[in-house]
Amino acid sequence: MTISSKAVPRIVVIGSVNTDIILRVAALPRPNETILGRGSETVVGGKGLNQAVAAARLGAETHMVAAIGDDAHGDAARAHLIARGVDVAHVTTTAGTATGTAHILVADDASNSIVVTPGANAALTPAMVEAATALIAGADAVVVQLEVPLPTVQAALEIARRHTVRTILNPAPSDRAALALFPLADLVTPNETELADLTGIDGSNDAAIHAALNDLRQRGARDGLVTLGPRGSAALIGGMLVFQPALRIAAVDTTGAGDVFNAALACELARGFPLLRAMEFASAAAALSVSRASADSAPTRSEVETLLAR
Ligand code: ATP
Repeated sequence: MTISSKAVPRIVVIGSVNTDIILRVAALPRPNETILGRGSETVVGGKGLNQAVAAARLGAETHMVAAIGDDAHGDAARAHLIARGVDVAHVTTTAGTATGTAHILVADDASNSIVVTPGANAALTPAMVEAATALIAGADAVVVQLEVPLPTVQAALEIARRHTVRTILNPAPSDRAALALFPLADLVTPNETELADLTGIDGSNDAAIHAALNDLRQRGARDGLVTLGPRGSAALIGGMLVFQPALRIAAVDTTGAGDVFNAALACELARGFPLLRAMEFASAAAALSVSRASADSAPTRSEVETLLAR
């Protein structure tokens, strides 16, 4: 098969910007338990920002549509995006709001627990997305998640569909109301928990994963893919359940693995590569991010290519 690949795809990420307050703990606290943390770190994050930064680092021309608060965290997020080469022309500072926050607990075994407070993300309106119509119409892929209001996600998907631009809907955090948007999505990419929430099918074995991914299609998504943490990812390709195993790597911090995976997937699909090849690239990119402690751990394209060539 001849693959025509576009060297520098244009990706538009519509989504959240948060300040991540990362607390390192020995083990995640149980209900009503108070524990001492090992240390804390404040960094910019949010699924949207993480995916935009990862796409830029992987070499895509990346644009973000987002809302930040008129506070120091918002200023830091804007500067962070600019420093990493993400276009922020459609990142709106909303007066009188605080930038969204995420409190992230990371345990010694690399498991995590996260509370997100939307802040300015709740002020990202469909009108702000419509103002970016020209940008979306000229994109090779549009990526959305569910940390901003659903009507805003819907507006982004509708504009992309109208202009036959490929869409990736990462349905995270899980929200069954997003099922209504599936007919507008080319690819829906839940993790295991989200897939079970969305379909009601617990993907505990291959047959169940197959049935759940089929269910995503029956609900209108053109394609569905599930990420399975250290087990890798799976998708239906030509009606067959195909697994992409995760790369074996010493896990240090799995926070944001899904964001790097989705960004890498978008980059490769936007470059014109088929889904399985995009999954292989994305699993290498995600593995590299998992092997690093920093939340700002997305790899460069050459780092991913070096790992794949081994
Ligand atoms: P998060 O919410 O922490 O960002 P997620 O739940 O959305 O993550 P996962 O399914 O945990 O996403 O991981 C996404 C991808 O990252 C997996 O499909 C896999 O390729 C890779 N990955 C995750 N954990 C590991 C690991 N321990 N070792 C290697 N690769 C991993």
